[in-house]
Amino acid sequence: MRALFEYYPGFNKTIPIAKLGNFPTPVEKLPNLGKSIGLDNLYIKREDISGPDYGGNKLRKLEFLFGKAIEDKKKSVITFGAVGSNHALATSVYANKLGLKCAVIMMPQKNHDYVKKNLLAHAALGTELIEFDKNIPMPNQTLKLAKSLGKRYGSEPMIIPFGGTTPLGSLGTVNAAFELKKQALRVEMPEPDSIYVAFGSMGTAAGLILGLKAAGMKTEVHCISVVDSTWSNKERLVELLNGIGTLLCESDSAFPNIKAGDCAYDLTYEFFGEDYAIFTPKGIEALDLIKETENIDLDGTYTAKALSALIDHAGNGGLKDKTVLFWNTLNSVDISALTSKAEYQDLPEFCWRYFEV
Ligand SMILES: *Cc1c(COP(=O)(O)O)cnc(C)c1O
Repeated sequence: MRALFEYYPGFNKTIPIAKLGNFPTPVEKLPNLGKSIGLDNLYIKREDISGPDYGGNKLRKLEFLFGKAIEDKKKSVITFGAVGSNHALATSVYANKLGLKCAVIMMPQKNHDYVKKNLLAHAALGTELIEFDKNIPMPNQTLKLAKSLGKRYGSEPMIIPFGGTTPLGSLGTVNAAFELKKQALRVEMPEPDSIYVAFGSMGTAAGLILGLKAAGMKTEVHCISVVDSTWSNKERLVELLNGIGTLLCESDSAFPNIKAGDCAYDLTYEFFGEDYAIFTPKGIEALDLIKETENIDLDGTYTAKALSALIDHAGNGGLKDKTVLFWNTLNSVDISALTSKAEYQDLPEFCWRYFEV
């Protein structure tokens, strides 16, 4: 049973969940990286192996979103993302597993190897990929696609916003906070003082922030933004936190009534760099250092920026004697069985330019 449901059994009756992931994910010590940056108690949360077919942070949200989709007898889902979006791929992988059709409206982004890899996986999965038209408002494009899917598959699709971030999706990491509490009680790691997590569509961090407060933990969440402040900002985070709190209390009145103002977090854009998916020098240093010391592979778009903040704060002496947890949101499950099955010419033509450079 998911940890949140053990603590609050009332949710079993009110919140459906599609059990797709391998939870709890392990916590592990990073002794070598810790030593090189002067931290005796540095740990990693292995969200990278959250699921059998594709890991990373999006699966926790999808368990709740797909739980609702199945309850509502949906046949298809629509979501959104940059062409290299890990969220879009996670959604397609697990929609496929549940027999749901998946369509994604895609935005352009800076090219990287992982962008090609994710696109090839979509080709193998048969994801319906649609190019975002910047001359048409997004709601209109979504409505048109929803009508088309509804007609073809006989029921209105579920619409999953960017990053899978809604109050419902964010329950994934509320659950993760209770999971972490159990891991601390079992002394798999001490209760962390600080968590460092990449901050994109905000759902991962928001669920953690509220969940840690609800679980009575002292942990402060450091949200390291990897998108600019028009997408994700304090006001939107506060709104999301309050939305999560309301959903939880409405679903089980035993759950504590928590508001954004009760929570412990901070939000910084200092490690963001120029733009989404533009790698930063500090991020690349962080990538190299964790590879060299722990043989862990991170990415430049998300996790390297979060780790560069942790390293920077350790270097300033701000984490002295603290227990610090790095939340590894990046998939590490091998998807070559998928990517080797496809050619880029199987993709719609708007994707080809990522391969023809
Ligand atoms: C999506 C993503 C994030 C950001 O998570 P949000 O819930 O959107 O804030 C962080 N890291 C990786 C690798 C991601 O794919």
